[in-house]
Amino acid sequence: MLEAIYFDGQTTKKRQVSLSFQGGNVLVQGEDVYHLEPFRPTMLSEKLGNAPRQLYLSNRAYCQIQNHAALEAMLREAGLKSQSTVSHLEARWHYALVALAFTLLAIVAAYIWVLPVLANEVAKRIPPELTAKMDQQTLMLLEKSTALTSTKLTTAQQLAIRQRFQALQVPVDQLKPAFKLVFRNSEAIGPNAFALPGSTILVTDKLVTLAGPSNQNQVIGVLTHELGHVYHRHALRQFVQGSIVAVVMTWYLGDISSLLASVPTAMLQTKYSRELEGEADDYAISMLKTNGISPQVLADMLMKLEGFYKLQKPSEKDSHHSLEEYFSTHPLTQSRIKKLRAPHHEN
Ligand SMILES: [Zn+2]
Repeated sequence: MLEAIYFDGQTTKKRQVSLSFQGGNVLVQGEDVYHLEPFRPTMLSEKLGNAPRQLYLSNRAYCQIQNHAALEAMLREAGLKSQSTVSHLEARWHYALVALAFTLLAIVAAYIWVLPVLANEVAKRIPPELTAKMDQQTLMLLEKSTALTSTKLTTAQQLAIRQRFQALQVPVDQLKPAFKLVFRNSEAIGPNAFALPGSTILVTDKLVTLAGPSNQNQVIGVLTHELGHVYHRHALRQFVQGSIVAVVMTWYLGDISSLLASVPTAMLQTKYSRELEGEADDYAISMLKTNGISPQVLADMLMKLEGFYKLQKPSEKDSHHSLEEYFSTHPLTQSRIKKLRAPHHEN
């Protein structure tokens, strides 16, 4: 038996009671008091110096226990555990681990869900003059790093593609975004096309020649896909997203110079996710259909590109930078081809 003072939780009246622990229960007995309930370690307050420990009962009453040693001894004897210092530390450790896990989850969630939304909002607010400057810079950088030169296509060839692409109608529920079509030649870059953050669509001569003069619609197919990226601001969003991460990392690591230097190349090496590729394909499909062109032309061009890259000798492949492959930016999947070839496009 352990002496304690009982408070009923409603009045200030003190009652002398005795506590005992039996069969996992705590029994409180005294004048006008008889209370039995299963013992839980959380019922007991922490040990704080010599201050009396509280035993909280489920009926809102509580007991004050002055004799710590006797309490611990009785609990031990009954095979019960109180929140000792060690178990309390353990609880803190568990709490810290749980808190850490939640923090990591929050960061991952922010990266997956919040960051793209934030990047999209920022991308919408960047003035077009600024994104046009970004494109100029990127083109200049490409000219230096990949020996991009002016196009070798004839004016007539360029004009034919340009006019055909300009004349395309967009589906009624969609807008045709502003875009700038640029032809460039490069020995280093293979057949390729990409949309820069500021809505410049770059097409290499090799892509046009790979399609062949009688398959101009295949080039048009690729261009509608690129326009889909422009429409959804994919490149700009990815760039902003990368910049946000870079700024946060720099703030954390404290080195901005090396980071700034890597931004333009990182921008070009962006690999679109399947989701973004799907969005660009969907845009292309609806735009091509609106203009009476089968979306299969895009599938045909993708297969042609794949064939071209497969034919390259391994040595040539190694010397080619990853950004130089069309599929390094626009990952090719079976589902993409399947969707572009789907029979419902025929109508
Ligand atoms: Zn793409």
